[in-house]
Amino acid sequence: MTCIDSLWLPYTQMATAPAPLPVVGAEGVRIRLADGRELIDGISSWWTMCHGYRHPHIMAAVEAQLATLPHVMFAGLVHEPALKLARRLAALLPGDLKRVFFSESGSVAVEVALKIAVQYWKNRGEDRHQFLAFREGYHGDTLGALSVTDPACGFHEAMAAYRVPHFFADLPRDEASRAALEALLERHGRKIAAAIVEPRVQGAGGMRFHDAATLEAIHAACRAHGLLLIHDEIMTGFGRTGSLFATPPTAVPDILCLSKALTGGTLPLAATIASDTVFAAFCSERLEDAFMHGPTFMANPLACAAANASLDLFETEPRLQQVAAIEAQMRRELEPCRGLPGVADVRVIGAIGVVQLDRPVAAALRPAFVERGLWLRPFGDIVYLAPPFVISAEDLATLTAAVCEVVSDWSTQACSASCPLSTP
Ligand SMILES: *Cc1c(COP(=O)(O)O)cnc(C)c1O
Repeated sequence: MTCIDSLWLPYTQMATAPAPLPVVGAEGVRIRLADGRELIDGISSWWTMCHGYRHPHIMAAVEAQLATLPHVMFAGLVHEPALKLARRLAALLPGDLKRVFFSESGSVAVEVALKIAVQYWKNRGEDRHQFLAFREGYHGDTLGALSVTDPACGFHEAMAAYRVPHFFADLPRDEASRAALEALLERHGRKIAAAIVEPRVQGAGGMRFHDAATLEAIHAACRAHGLLLIHDEIMTGFGRTGSLFATPPTAVPDILCLSKALTGGTLPLAATIASDTVFAAFCSERLEDAFMHGPTFMANPLACAAANASLDLFETEPRLQQVAAIEAQMRRELEPCRGLPGVADVRVIGAIGVVQLDRPVAAALRPAFVERGLWLRPFGDIVYLAPPFVISAEDLATLTAAVCEVVSDWSTQACSASCPLSTP
């Protein structure tokens, strides 16, 4: 990959990867390439671009902000876009999640959540610095965030020596896993500052779904053993699973993280929101009790303006109805993949549609989608769609048809080559 000389790309073996595709523009659900081709974006630029590229309302808000205040430091100084956004997030989130700490990426929002949890206990005179995390969870690539990411996800093997050892449990979905979680907390609960979980969908760990009852069980276990609870809604926040947030009103956490779709995919911004109770533990006469963390670009005004405009669009345009329509259409149109040899599962929640293969070979299918004018990024054993919510039924049908076709082609080739007969 010599054509991009000075660049270092993420999750990429630079010595062997095919050349990346140069992009010159984007509009709605389409990415425009330098050679004139257009790709329908089936994954919303890593799940961020919920209103499509360059939505005029967001563009106008960012331009207006650019004309008055593109950036100012956020210590000792505040500004209206951040104040307005914090108030709106606090009003939209359930329970007493009221204190908003801004940063610029999801991983940092998770770092901030973990640090708040540890210091919450320290300020109350207890030493609790370990975490309870769940298998197949993913929380980011920085050292703290990767320490609560399931090591088996395979993203972070090179960093094994730097992982802080935490506790990993299976999601409590049945009698046995609930009992195992209870036993773990019985034994180690007093060392644990907080549990962290992605509500309803574990994303980068393999797009696995769980129900509200599972979150209620985690919430109840945390309450019973006096742990804080962190919900990582970095992927699920802002409509992706069908409701504005995936957190059910019956399992409200103490701390919640947002990023990806927060600015409608326009600019980098993240938020860690703490409950009034958590925040109160940081308020005293002593500076040592204050939270000592401050990203240089936190609460960037352009990004806050984009986020406010994105929230406007959730109020003025029928986003959640669009998500419901996408869900129904994907359920119908991905269903034919079920039962194909080599397909382990087909599942849909909100605007996430997944075809899971029976082995981790999905990345090999990427070129087949680009050939068809589509931008998808299958990974692990997962071929998935997470389209912008504004996608038309026709464009979505093109995506689902391509998923069925590519998976079915793979299925026939792979299986004629190597699959044993699945039934006698
Ligand atoms: C993407 C993601 C992160 C990390 O966010 P970055 O902005 O990539 O640092 C953390 N948690 C979840 C659930 C995510 O999907």
